[in-house]
Amino acid sequence: MEPTALSYDDILLIPQYSDIRSRTEIDLTVDLGKHLYLQTPVLSSPMDTVSEESLCAAMAHQGAAGIIHRYNTIEEQVSMASGVLSALGPIANLGAAVGCTGDFLQRARLLARVGIKFICIDVAHGHHILMKEALHALRCEIGDEIHLMAGNVATLPAVNDLADWGADSVRCNIGGGSICSTRIQTGHGLPGLQTIIECAQTDRNVSIIADGGIRNSGDMVKALALGADAVMVGSLLAGTSEAPGKLLEDASGHKWKLYRGMASKEAQIDWRGKYSSFEGVSSRVPYTGPVEEILQDLERGIRSGLSYSGARTISELQSKARFAVQSSAGQTESSPHIQSRRWG
Ligand code: IMP
Repeated sequence: MEPTALSYDDILLIPQYSDIRSRTEIDLTVDLGKHLYLQTPVLSSPMDTVSEESLCAAMAHQGAAGIIHRYNTIEEQVSMASGVLSALGPIANLGAAVGCTGDFLQRARLLARVGIKFICIDVAHGHHILMKEALHALRCEIGDEIHLMAGNVATLPAVNDLADWGADSVRCNIGGGSICSTRIQTGHGLPGLQTIIECAQTDRNVSIIADGGIRNSGDMVKALALGADAVMVGSLLAGTSEAPGKLLEDASGHKWKLYRGMASKEAQIDWRGKYSSFEGVSSRVPYTGPVEEILQDLERGIRSGLSYSGARTISELQSKARFAVQSSAGQTESSPHIQSRRWG
């Protein structure tokens, strides 16, 4: 039997001595490999309620990166990619997703031709023979220069295999996304932080992306401290002005946006007219305003997190970080708890 598996709320990073006088001394730049550098280590999920042209442009503009989803025609996806690259110039950090069957090679070839920085092979169970074949075929098709991101996986052997098959970075976490029901439908998965702890043990030259279940900058700092090179988020961006879809307003005047899993019934029916097994749900998230403000808040939180560990860079954070598992009383104490206090 495997030992207890930890998730984000199970641990706290232990504060360390710091000689950082200002958070501007902190450098959040990460090198994910093959010329993919992020100034802010955040990626947007390739989902149809998150990542289209305007959100990806805003992400690149902020030094993060967006990944245009694949639930569209090749022409639509290529046109969104060229829209971002003509607005921001060819060096913009822009990714695009492909599957591992069907038109994926043609998609990748045309996306590479318009100047995409990286391609994300986006499948639910990435430790799979189809992934191995797709990585080999993509390397032959688009050459060695373009960064290939692959996933999702939950184990160290999976990260090592994907790296050996040609991936430059791997999305890690199965079943932890906020709109995900994979663990309920299939009984499979591993809590998100444990996934990172295990996957980060890799000795291959591959970057680890902590994907799904990340709710705030504190979760981001924990993932980065325990070995992730960058994080990927969907729900944190789905409520922004730049996310696709119209603004919804309820009877009390609160504003929302639709956010749904790509394996939800609703998404499957929209993009292929029917559904098979479904492993996601359709929901809504509060409207949060521009991406710029959300990313700046997250970035401030990450910088503050590094300063609590006395770290000026993410690699320094990883070498210094120590964590403790907290009890359920500790978890209660770790969030604002004034409202649950009993007064005299
Ligand atoms: P969030 O940031 O917690 O909202 O999670 C976003 C992540 O959930 C994505 O990057 C995907 O890895 C994952 N995901 C997206 N759609 C689905 C789905 O329908 N089922 C399971 N996981 C999903």
